[in-house]
Amino acid sequence: MELPFAESWKIKMVEPLRKSTREEREQWIKEADYNLFQLKSDQVYIDCLTDSGTGAMSDRQWAAMMMGDESYAGSSSFFMLKDTICRITGFEYVIPTHQGRAAENVLFSHLVTAGAIVPGNSHFDTTKGHIESRKAFAVDCTVDEAKDTQLEVPFKGNVDPAKLEKVLAENAEKVPFIIVTITNNTAGGQPVSMQNLREVRAIADKYGKRVIYDSARFVENAYFIRTREEGYGEKTIKEICKEMFSYADGMTMSSKKDGLVNMGGFIATRHEDWYEGAKRFCIPFEGYLTYGGMNGRDMAALAVGLDENTELDNIETRIRQVQYLAARLDEFGIPYQRPVGGHAIFVDADKVLDQIPKEEFPAQTLAIELYLEAGIRGCEIGYILADRDPVTRENRFGGLDLLRLCIARRVYTNNHMDVIAVALKNVFDRRHEITRGVKIVWETELMRHFTVKLERL
Ligand SMILES: *Cc1c(COP(=O)(O)O)cnc(C)c1O
Repeated sequence: MELPFAESWKIKMVEPLRKSTREEREQWIKEADYNLFQLKSDQVYIDCLTDSGTGAMSDRQWAAMMMGDESYAGSSSFFMLKDTICRITGFEYVIPTHQGRAAENVLFSHLVTAGAIVPGNSHFDTTKGHIESRKAFAVDCTVDEAKDTQLEVPFKGNVDPAKLEKVLAENAEKVPFIIVTITNNTAGGQPVSMQNLREVRAIADKYGKRVIYDSARFVENAYFIRTREEGYGEKTIKEICKEMFSYADGMTMSSKKDGLVNMGGFIATRHEDWYEGAKRFCIPFEGYLTYGGMNGRDMAALAVGLDENTELDNIETRIRQVQYLAARLDEFGIPYQRPVGGHAIFVDADKVLDQIPKEEFPAQTLAIELYLEAGIRGCEIGYILADRDPVTRENRFGGLDLLRLCIARRVYTNNHMDVIAVALKNVFDRRHEITRGVKIVWETELMRHFTVKLERL
């Protein structure tokens, strides 16, 4: 008999979890204005809000922290990090930042001006925010397949080359760079194929443009290339990463995802002019160039985390757990973005709560119901997150309305996955009784989902 798959690590330290009653949760969610970001973490049993900065570090990472060099300038931990990034990506210029959006802020301060057009595949919300706040435009060129949540295609995160080519043919002079998000977070943690990365490179070259990868989950992307794309099954994750980045000019990184640390980010590039330009903004916004918003010990832990996560055992354990949860949802017939992506399940709320009109935010309503059911905290990736159109100020109902259940790295066991699956099934079974959603009573202009206040209808 073939041995079953098991985690590539064992547990050395544990953290107790706290359960609650439905009455307590009803009270707490009301006090939180029906916004799950406003809950206290001890009001949550299993936290699937995000996979950002929520992972568990290894013994080797903790050991590296003890060796961190806190020198203001020229820290040896910085050089350890820079060498690791260079070895994995091939980029020799590195600027650490306190997280991914700070990397965007520093680099885009140099590159994005009013009226610019930045094409890409479903720009992440902070990326879009950093483009639109500079009075520039983020143009989504994701493949149309991404919109059909039930379609099983291996690389649903891809850029549509025809859409990209059209943007460049019409507006090349306004495009400072192309941005490719690997994996495509907003479209459901969906990967981008190596073939597609090559196509984007070719189009960029044709118009003399550079390419940035928004790389928060580049290792997950590499794993999907290894398991789904012809010719990569025998390659190491590190070899695949190296090839992916060979088609880019630079990257912004949220280390809180595939860096396996709780805080941090960086910019890396092969171009001295981008490095020089970004440097000018790193110092006032983040800090001196050899720490840029990070402690020495955190840079040391990140260097080890990047190295560890780009090994097959580790990333395979991670993705297989997400796939395990997806298989449980399949048993119950719960619709989610298929095939499951790398870091999360994206439940198709429009299909589950089909009696709730778009104007009453079905995905947010489903998030509230799942919390009430079992204290599980998910996150709306839908109409609230989409913000309003910057010109018309209308809600944007054109995209998907999803409930995202993120899986933290190396934190929960498959027993927790079973609890999530059954809780969701219980909500699913009584979906026809849930006929009203929520209404917005207070919101901000950009990135409203973090602080929005809601009322239950
Ligand atoms: C998380 C994330 C960011 C922003 O990073 P932070 O570390 O949260 O600031 C940017 N892009 C993508 C794709 C992300 O997932």
